[in-house]
Amino acid sequence: MKTLIKNGYLITMEEESVQKDGYVIIEDETILATGSGVPPADEYDKVIDADEAIILPGFINTHTHVGMGLFRGYADDLPLMEWLETKIFPMEDQLNDEYLYHGAMLDILEMIQSGTTCFLSMYMFNNGAAKAILESGIRAVLGRGTSGIGPDEKHRQVFDEIRDLYRRCHGADNDRLRIWIGPHACYVCPPDYLKKVAALAEELHTGVTIHIAETQSEVDGCLKNYGLRPLPYIEQSGIFDHPTVAAHCVWMNEEELAILKKYQVGVAYNPESNMKLGSGVAPIGKMLQMGIHVGLGTDGSSSNNDLNMIGEMRSAAFLQKVANLDPLALSAWDVLRMATVEGAKILHWEDAIGQLKPGYQADLILIRTKCPHMRPLHDVVSNLVYSADKSDVETVMVKGRILMENRRMTGLHETEIIAQAERTFREMYKKLQQSQKKEDEKVDI
Ligand SMILES: [Zn+2]
Repeated sequence: MKTLIKNGYLITMEEESVQKDGYVIIEDETILATGSGVPPADEYDKVIDADEAIILPGFINTHTHVGMGLFRGYADDLPLMEWLETKIFPMEDQLNDEYLYHGAMLDILEMIQSGTTCFLSMYMFNNGAAKAILESGIRAVLGRGTSGIGPDEKHRQVFDEIRDLYRRCHGADNDRLRIWIGPHACYVCPPDYLKKVAALAEELHTGVTIHIAETQSEVDGCLKNYGLRPLPYIEQSGIFDHPTVAAHCVWMNEEELAILKKYQVGVAYNPESNMKLGSGVAPIGKMLQMGIHVGLGTDGSSSNNDLNMIGEMRSAAFLQKVANLDPLALSAWDVLRMATVEGAKILHWEDAIGQLKPGYQADLILIRTKCPHMRPLHDVVSNLVYSADKSDVETVMVKGRILMENRRMTGLHETEIIAQAERTFREMYKKLQQSQKKEDEKVDI
């Protein structure tokens, strides 16, 4: 199957340039050629006229919790720990693989429709998530969320579950899905437990994703409990000897930035979640100056409240500009790099995705420019980051397979997925109320 996409503004992310009259030639899963001008004459099975749309690598969301879309709007305007402990954790206790599958389908539908072709998720019930990923056609890294609280027996079971998931799903569909480990954060992971996570990463030769220094209270708690700030605390476990994506990294001092650099820990910057939860502003400028790799993430859709990487790019730049009182603090080009090629780097997938070049996977998107908010088109990258809307994403391709064409989903049934997600939340909420009623009755006795 040979496909030609032509007549677009091509951004390959190989270098800082936009090619007018750009084209991409795809054979099966991979990119055969890119260029500008008249495409080579050949027999193509499919020709897509981009009609001056921007052609670029699909967005890579480097931090989310796939399935949390079920809890969108359920509890807002609360501090992080109160939000987790009083609202989110009790609802999560009702989750199972089937519910998670429906939540993941809702999130994946939203991601595809807003141009994301790959994501890194940290969450539970990964059998449900893996099923949704493999059915939908999107690419992903699933970091099984874990916590070191509770009995050793429970941890052994979770580790066995990760081994089993890894054995069955790592590299599935010709390397469209990878399995990592996702210890939640230092406040639920004692030192011995983190060492066991590092040993499991060693055993499976896989990566780890973890929240680090999201809030000031996380840093205070780590200092109080272990006498160390979160980053040096986690460094001791040996986790950073393995590919690691650290989400947030808001509260970082110079010594900690040097640790990120030393181990080449990738950072997932989540500006909208950090703003919504009042967590703070990550020192992204310093990180980039030091050569630390930074990707972009939305976080879960109950702390954002969407999975829209175009909106996230705009927020990423604006937040840095206002926090540093400097309009040059983060440029449109640097943000676009975070959302594509740098995202691929921190997932250790930079040899196959994040750029459009021969031999790479055909994970790409088309974003229309023939609409008032995208014209005039003096600077394509500037308009893409500062003016585009998620609904401007017209066509999405992963591994050469078209998942959405001219805003029509090719495989997923949008209305069914939305209805099923709503049914699922209602069912979970009912179960939660029943279990709380039982607890109240116990107290009365
Ligand atoms: Zn998170």
